[in-house]
Amino acid sequence: MRHLLIALLGLLLAAPSALAAPKSPPFTLFPVIGGASYTNDYGDPRGSGVHEGNDLLAPCGTPVIAVVPGTIRLDWGSRSGWMVTLVGRSSWYRYIHMGVAGDRSSALAKGLRDGSRVKEGQVISYVGRTGDAQRAPCHLHFELHYDRPAVSPYRWLRQAAIVQPNADDPAMATSSSQATLRISGTVQWAATSGGEGRLVVRARKVSCSNGDGVNRRGPIALRAAPELVASLRPGAKITVTTAPATLTSEMLEVRPLAWTAARVS
Ligand SMILES: [Zn+2]
Repeated sequence: MRHLLIALLGLLLAAPSALAAPKSPPFTLFPVIGGASYTNDYGDPRGSGVHEGNDLLAPCGTPVIAVVPGTIRLDWGSRSGWMVTLVGRSSWYRYIHMGVAGDRSSALAKGLRDGSRVKEGQVISYVGRTGDAQRAPCHLHFELHYDRPAVSPYRWLRQAAIVQPNADDPAMATSSSQATLRISGTVQWAATSGGEGRLVVRARKVSCSNGDGVNRRGPIALRAAPELVASLRPGAKITVTTAPATLTSEMLEVRPLAWTAARVS
């Protein structure tokens, strides 16, 4: 009996941490339209506590979207400024420092009010610097919650699709835009292992089809089909075009193996 009680107690204690570490992404869209610059600043010391989200830097007025379907709430706090809370089915989100101080309508997208239902990808608010961010650069303070304490959204932000404005419907973002990368340089290394090709290009010039400046030189590791890398020799000049893909932060930063080579010449 005593052992059973101890086992039950163990289960109860284990349950919250199991909930806090989901296997599937809680969200798959990047909250700021067009992306943002950010670092892994979750947990950094801030004033009397720790930083409970990630600061996503983008110009004031940049639209932000609902990362999941849900219901929105609007609150004002002296530290948070305008705060939009998005309550989804199994997670909820805080969007902090929104809009312009003293102007409630600046903190919610047109047609929305406190309590509105929103769709995934719907524009809900705008980047600002309200509350204690008045002297900080314009940014969205973004929090992910399953329960009271926030958990780090960072790893999901890295993998989230960066959405673009939707010309046909300004109330919604579009994540259908795909981009390719063109890399010129020399082959540093090419090999096949376990049926998968790997290619490292010493890049001289990198450009992205969506016009984003990709400032990257030096070695870039790519995935590739085995037949594509079979004939490549180290030192050879090469231009690689990648397979079209939906942009993520990892892709914009050209992280190792973020892109797949589709054509070489
Ligand atoms: Zn912050």
